[in-house]
Amino acid sequence: MTTQRVAIIGLGLIGGSVGLATQAMLPQIAVTGWDADPDVRRRAAERGLVTTVCDTAEDAVRDAELVILCVPVGAMEGAARAIAHALPQNAVVSDVGSSKRSVAEGLARALPGVTIIPAHPVAGTEKSGPDAGFSELFRHRWCIVTPPEGAPPEALQRVSDFWEGLGAKVEVMEAGHHDLVLAVTSHIPHLIAYTIVGTASDLEDVTRGEVIKYSAGGFRDFTRIAASDPTMWRDVFLSNRDAVLEVLGRFTEDLTALQRAIRNGDGDTLFDLFERTRAIRRSIIEEGQDDARPDFGRSDH
Ligand code: NAP
Repeated sequence: MTTQRVAIIGLGLIGGSVGLATQAMLPQIAVTGWDADPDVRRRAAERGLVTTVCDTAEDAVRDAELVILCVPVGAMEGAARAIAHALPQNAVVSDVGSSKRSVAEGLARALPGVTIIPAHPVAGTEKSGPDAGFSELFRHRWCIVTPPEGAPPEALQRVSDFWEGLGAKVEVMEAGHHDLVLAVTSHIPHLIAYTIVGTASDLEDVTRGEVIKYSAGGFRDFTRIAASDPTMWRDVFLSNRDAVLEVLGRFTEDLTALQRAIRNGDGDTLFDLFERTRAIRRSIIEEGQDDARPDFGRSDH
């Protein structure tokens, strides 16, 4: 199924990257876009994030075959309502939200009778806004598509083809399973980063200046993650509440076991865990999902 007209609602990091990647890799597609923030719309036009930046959400979607909602998870349902009456008959609506079950429920409430194929490109950076996007963001990254039961196969194909056209590798998954997997691989790591950086800056006996001055590898990497967009991450934790709480329960138990091992001088337990986790790091490098260079290749830039 060839797509010729795509509309993007929300022109920040992800929406802007989708727009740039489409123009670079699928130049036959005309991309319209809209963002609720007039400053973002102006900047999007200056950077050419989409072919046409429209003045209203309705104008952006009026002729679209595929609409991709790229707003924070908590704004998805409202953004869908705003386009409901302007959507063409056969348009497929998708999104890029980091949690899938509650977003799918919200989109279904807002768009009764519309074909909805939710998706999540597992690619991003800690930056946000219309200046943060770049066309290569999705290349060789996974895009998880979570079609509801009974979704038309041609609509799933349209969304999958689109992401593959942007260089992503597509995987189809049930929404609840997506939420559990992402709670483990993304949401809890962000929560830990927010916690550790917050704790460090709250420690009474250590000054803020010392935390910044002596920030060694481990802590510095946490600060990068903890600099991620506050709106986006607030929404992710609220919308993926059940999966996050389930994984957090497990994590807390494991942390308590490590606390006990340290208190008891049980080096074997510590060593065994660290050896196991090192093997996981090796697998991630082997699968090309990260960079093995010292300092994650940062010094090369
Ligand atoms: P972003 O850079 O902050 O962009 C979101 C844009 O949407 C902002 O310009 C925002 O404007 C606008 N917006 C908010 N509500 C809107 C509405 N109702 N209608 C139209 N525009 C609206 O955020 P992002 O990082 O691109 O994230 C967008 C989505 O991608 C989120 O659902 C997130 O979960 C998902 N995602 C993010 C990453 C990542 O690493 N960042 C990775 C994969 C998926 P204001 O700023 O004025 O509110």
